Amino acid sequence: MTETPSSPDNPVVTVYGRAGSAPCYAVRDFLYRNDVRFRWVELRTDEDARMHGLDGITDNHLPVCVFADQTRIERPTIQQISQKLGWFGDPSRTQYDLAIYGAGPAGLSAGVYGASEGLKTVLVERWAVGGQASSSPKIENYLGFPQGISGAELADHARDQACRFGAEILIAREGVRAEFSVGTRIGYLADGTKVVARAVICATGIDYHRLAVENEERFRGAGVYYGAGASEAHLCVGRHIVVIGGGNSAAQATLHFARNAARITLAVRGESLKSSVSAYLVDRIQSAANVDVRTHTEAISLEGRDMLERVVLRNNRTGAEDRIDTHWLFVCIGGAPRTEWAAALGVARDQAGYLVTGPDLLHDDASARAWPLDRPPYYLETNVPGLFAAGDVRHNSVKRVASAVGEGAMAVAFVHRYLATG
Ligand SMILES: Cc1cc2nc3c(=O)[nH]c(=O)nc-3n(C[C@H](O)[C@H](O)[C@H](O)COP(=O)(O)OP(=O)(O)OC[C@H]3O[C@@H](n4cnc5c(N)ncnc54)[C@H](O)[C@@H]3O)c2cc1C
Repeated sequence: MTETPSSPDNPVVTVYGRAGSAPCYAVRDFLYRNDVRFRWVELRTDEDARMHGLDGITDNHLPVCVFADQTRIERPTIQQISQKLGWFGDPSRTQYDLAIYGAGPAGLSAGVYGASEGLKTVLVERWAVGGQASSSPKIENYLGFPQGISGAELADHARDQACRFGAEILIAREGVRAEFSVGTRIGYLADGTKVVARAVICATGIDYHRLAVENEERFRGAGVYYGAGASEAHLCVGRHIVVIGGGNSAAQATLHFARNAARITLAVRGESLKSSVSAYLVDRIQSAANVDVRTHTEAISLEGRDMLERVVLRNNRTGAEDRIDTHWLFVCIGGAPRTEWAAALGVARDQAGYLVTGPDLLHDDASARAWPLDRPPYYLETNVPGLFAAGDVRHNSVKRVASAVGEGAMAVAFVHRYLATG
């Protein structure tokens, strides 16, 4: 049995589970990203389970979550955990001034500004607050944090700030479709809940790209993880880790693991890290003794039985293959927006699915035709008046925490103008 070295003294919840179990990973990831203090106890044998009063528990019941008040839930859903944490509720109002979809940096910022400026504001978040940023172990280039700050901590402060101003946050709820009519925007959540608002900001960011290799889905959460895997780093002590990707998030993940892991293989498809990674990260990677950077390299297959046991890498110049025994593969190869709902509403998107806004609408002939009003669209407004986009989901956005936060704040300024004049 192992406990995480970072186990807090007074955990909000203790999570009992097995290594390489996707449901256990989902719960760890959710708690970590939401900055909930939790203790992870890995059960390696039936004896371990007995010692914790969990006799007769099979893998199908794991994880088991035991909360501070001793409530025990076997294989909980994320909704059940949110409920237990007091975060799960239905919209309290029949209509809001502003509904924001996505509580990453852009959505949280819009929540803070919207609520603090008197708008009745609701945020709808599919998973955990903080979005991609909450998977980052340390954000070092965000203004005001010279020592860096973990994405989960930053998100937790922002959530607190938004709530203090009166924003309502619906966690573990996904927006799936919308109906817009003059003056009213209705969003439907996956569980059928209706959220009605006068204006909407879409801040749904991007979803991680998959490697598109065989067995990837089977090992998802059971050896294959997306993003920097901040929740997993303390479990990788002394292990060999493989990271795939040639950007800042892959570099950050590599350096984070380098503190505890025995060895990290960073597979980069291009010819060097320098063209795509910030200089301060390149320097640190080059001086890390346990990091092996393989350029011109891709993952071509994943092997194992119940969990990932081996990654096969191929050098795309020489064709040479290398099989690495590992239970830990982190994929950081960027992402794409999921905006199918927008296509159904006639919202202008670019070829990759990003939402086109403001002046960009007028550069594109097809989108320009779709703009219905005499006034030009506001800078972050889509071709549907009153629907705004902020952060990574927006065409031509900058893909940084600071710019997402800035766009969230700007979008609220345009919402005020829209609500005042239409
Ligand atoms: C590992 C990693 C490290 C990074 N490090 C840095 C860094 O050091 N510095 C930096 O400036 N940038 C960094 N970035 C980039 C930065 O995190 C992103 O640019 C930023 O998070 C974008 O914010 P966003 O709010 O636009 O979108 P996201 O962060 O993608 O958030 C979107 C949110 O919307 C939610 N959502 C999606 N669809 C729906 C739906 N239908 N209904 C409800 N909710 C939905 C998602 O669950 C998510 O929480 C990093 C990114 C990664 C992945």
